[in-house]
Amino acid sequence: MSDDPSIPIPVANFDNAEFWEGCRKHELRLQRCRQCGALRHPPRPMCPECTSTDSEFARASGRGSVYSFTVVHGPTLPAFQARAPYNVVVVQLDEGLYIVSNLVDCPADEIRIGMGVEAVFEDLDEQISLPKFRRIA
Ligand code: ZN
Repeated sequence: MSDDPSIPIPVANFDNAEFWEGCRKHELRLQRCRQCGALRHPPRPMCPECTSTDSEFARASGRGSVYSFTVVHGPTLPAFQARAPYNVVVVQLDEGLYIVSNLVDCPADEIRIGMGVEAVFEDLDEQISLPKFRRIA
C-alpha cells in the first residue's frame, strides 16, 4: 500500500482502462493495433503507424533496461516532497517501447544506463496499482 495517500492517483479512462486493469493484476499490458500489429504506449485512441482506432491489449514481458534516469531532489509538487530524493527512470521495454516509472530497491548511485529491469507493482488502492521496476539480479 502507498505510504502517502495524498499523492495524485491515476484515473482510468476509456483508452487506458485495460492497461490499469493489467496493473491491478500485476501484469504489464501494451496496446496493440488490430490492423497493423504495432504496439504503443501510453494507450491512446489511434495507431500512430496506420491511424486505425481498432486495438487490443497484450501482456508484455515486463522486462527491459534503463534507457535514461534522473534523481529528483526538489523542489517537487508538494505531495512528492517527502519522497525526495527519488529516481525517475525511462525504461526501454524488451518490446521496444518506453515507459516512465521508478526503480525500487536500488540506491541512486547504483542506477546505470542499460541495467536490466523487470516490472513490479505498487498497490495504491483496490483499483490502481502503479507499474514500477526493479533491477534483475
Ligand atoms: Zn496500426
